[in-house]
Amino acid sequence: MQLIHNFKISISEYEQNGQDNVFPKILHCPRCHDQLIQNGFYLRHPIDLDKQYTIFIKRYRCKHCGLSISILPSFLLPHFQRTLKEIFQCMYDYYFMKKLILSRCQTLFYCRRFEKNIPGIISFFRSKINPFLKFVKKTKKKAIKLIKMIKSSPTPTFSRRYYDHLQKCFMAN
Ligand SMILES: [Zn+2]
Repeated sequence: MQLIHNFKISISEYEQNGQDNVFPKILHCPRCHDQLIQNGFYLRHPIDLDKQYTIFIKRYRCKHCGLSISILPSFLLPHFQRTLKEIFQCMYDYYFMKKLILSRCQTLFYCRRFEKNIPGIISFFRSKINPFLKFVKKTKKKAIKLIKMIKSSPTPTFSRRYYDHLQKCFMAN
C-alpha cells in the first residue's frame, strides 16, 4: 500500500535530497499493528514540465504480515508518471479553455479518469464540506464544478486528504 505524505518541498528539492529527505517514521502496520521495519528505497522517474526526475521512494515492510508500505510524496499520484500539478493543470486548461498543454490523447485520458471518479469526489466533498451540495446531471458540468472546488484548496492537500479518506486516489482506475 502507499501512504501519501506532504514533504512540503518541491520535486527538485526532493530529488536533490536523495535518501536524506525527512521521511515520516511509521512504526506500526496499518493492517495487523505489528512492528514495521525499514525496507530500503525504490526509484521512480516522475516527469514535470517535460523534465524527468529520479527520486527515491521510501519503503517499509511488516515483519508479521508482510505488508509493504511506500511513502509517496504528495506532488505525485499513485501510478502516474506526471506530477499531480501538471495533470491537474492539464485538466483545468482543457475543461475551462479547451486548451491543450499535453497531447490530446493524454489530456482526454486524464479527463476520462477524473470523470470516472466523480461519484467518489462528490461524496468526499459532501462528507467534508456540506452533505447537501448540489450538482447538475451532466458529467462535464459536474467535472468543471469539482475542478473549481479542488483548485480552491491546495491540490496536494486535496489529493492527500482524499486518499486518507477513501484509501484510493481521486484519479484511480
Ligand atoms: Zn502487518
